[in-house]
Amino acid sequence: MLDEFERRIVGRQVASVGRRGKYVVVSLDEGFLLIHLKMSGRLRVLPADEPRDEHTHTLFDLDDGRQLRFQDMRKFGRVYLVDDPDQVTSGLGPEPLADAFSLDAFRQLLARRSGRLKSLLLNQQFLAGIGNIYADESLFMARLHPLRKADSLVPAEQARLYTGIRTVLSQAIAGRGTTLDDSGYVDAEGRTGVYQEHIAVYGRAGEPCPACQTAIERMVLGGRSTHFCPKCQAL
Ligand code: ZN
Repeated sequence: MLDEFERRIVGRQVASVGRRGKYVVVSLDEGFLLIHLKMSGRLRVLPADEPRDEHTHTLFDLDDGRQLRFQDMRKFGRVYLVDDPDQVTSGLGPEPLADAFSLDAFRQLLARRSGRLKSLLLNQQFLAGIGNIYADESLFMARLHPLRKADSLVPAEQARLYTGIRTVLSQAIAGRGTTLDDSGYVDAEGRTGVYQEHIAVYGRAGEPCPACQTAIERMVLGGRSTHFCPKCQAL
């Protein structure tokens, strides 16, 4: 399998780099390389003579003397080489930042679901690309409790959640992601993100809500840590 991977990737040219949900999608002149960073993955572009860190699991020699290295301390990350990205991403829901993702489209998705908002936001088949931090931040921005049922939202609440998701994701991308103490996330150039400086509730249990000063609460929902303001996001 490794031989097959090598045979198919050597000599390919990178046409563009994009994203679908949480997957980095590298379009090649033939085929696609998809990478999921999961909990601790990093993609770095480094000079080939730079010493390799012990967590480098995959590396690609580039024709300018540098290497694209996939480093992953916890080894949950995945690298795929496929003819069609759909082979990996066909089950994903819509992209929340796409132009086609209108408030009306979001309303229709919500109305068909009876699940709790937090679980739904993390469900990649419902919407693609929202992780635990951005789910909590979106719900806080929308002033909605994580346990609210999707089909219970009135139109004004649906609109707040739509705006919350799109605002949080846009700001997080502009801030090059979130680097928490435990994750050590860095981008291809080794720079940390800055979105952690804008976080209102995630990981802040016991600290004052930035809007009303009430202590932020934490609960575990579907195995995931969930943070919210009990006053701003009353159930
Ligand atoms: Zn509050």
